[in-house]
Amino acid sequence: MPGLIERYRHRLPFEDGDPVVSMGEGSTPLVQAPALSERVGASVWLKLEGLNPTGSFKDRGMCCAVSAALREGSETVICASTGNTAASAAAYAARAGMRGVVIVPEGKIATGKLAQALVYGARVIALQGNFDEALTLVRELADRHPIALVNSVNDFRLEGQKTAAFELVEELAGELDGLCIPVGNAGNVTAYWKGFQEVGASPRLFGFQAEGAAPLVLGHPVEKPETVASAIRIGNPARWEEAMAAFTASRGQVRAVSDEEILEAWEFLARREGIFCEPASAASVAGLIKYGPDGCERLVCVLTGNGLKDPDTALSRAGGVIPCTAEISAVEAAVLG
Ligand SMILES: *Cc1c(COP(=O)(O)O)cnc(C)c1O
Repeated sequence: MPGLIERYRHRLPFEDGDPVVSMGEGSTPLVQAPALSERVGASVWLKLEGLNPTGSFKDRGMCCAVSAALREGSETVICASTGNTAASAAAYAARAGMRGVVIVPEGKIATGKLAQALVYGARVIALQGNFDEALTLVRELADRHPIALVNSVNDFRLEGQKTAAFELVEELAGELDGLCIPVGNAGNVTAYWKGFQEVGASPRLFGFQAEGAAPLVLGHPVEKPETVASAIRIGNPARWEEAMAAFTASRGQVRAVSDEEILEAWEFLARREGIFCEPASAASVAGLIKYGPDGCERLVCVLTGNGLKDPDTALSRAGGVIPCTAEISAVEAAVLG
């Protein structure tokens, strides 16, 4: 499969001959979810964005943001991140031969994402503060220095991410009634809406935030956002107004789900559908289960990131292993249990 700039160049701000930093991102699987469909009483598909090159949808946006930064002659890219943006920026910077710098909230980033950012060779700065503070600081830094800011305030990020909407419309032949999506900084839902609009589609957008980090639901910023779903632990979304406009225009809604509901949905996906996503991604499914399909017959839940990103949360929830001596009788007892 070509990367998304090659696949959708006619709908993206790139000309033939522009530099393209790509690793075959996009074109992710859309799979049916029979157990979930039965549970909610509608036809549900899952968009597996965790199968992008660094394991999250952020690669769609990063492909475009880093390609544009290279075209502009930047030598350094920077971002504030709850983890996946850092992993993606680090990878695309490495591939472009640029310096990558990422600022993450100290102690608040999932192990897999931290490992990625470090292994790809980025300079990783652990801020004694939360994501919202990190974003404010990198915005100021990017104003002062010739450094490309690749957070979702960067319009190229949204350009790349809107391509997921094109894929859905193509694959479902336009027959999509609703999209369920986790919401953090609200860049992704804004990008999907842009993409749908560009191809004349308008499914209802159902966004879900974690209860402890639900500024859009509450109508005001949350100073100390808390949730197990670290990728959406954001108290003051950068794309607040645009996302709210998209929910209204699509006759959708933004609603909250508890951590318990998120983890229940996450476990259901693994055990019943065989799909291991990260906790934040399961917010889309938790919301669909909690609030129902709201009259929609065909829905897609976006599974934004790969479960392998956050092994600690996974292991703390999963059952333990069974110790066993290397003797047939012991193994027999353990296996047949
Ligand atoms: C970034 C991210 C989100 C939230 O996307 P926004 O554009 O910030 O709303 C959700 N899930 C995962 C796995 C992410 O990495």
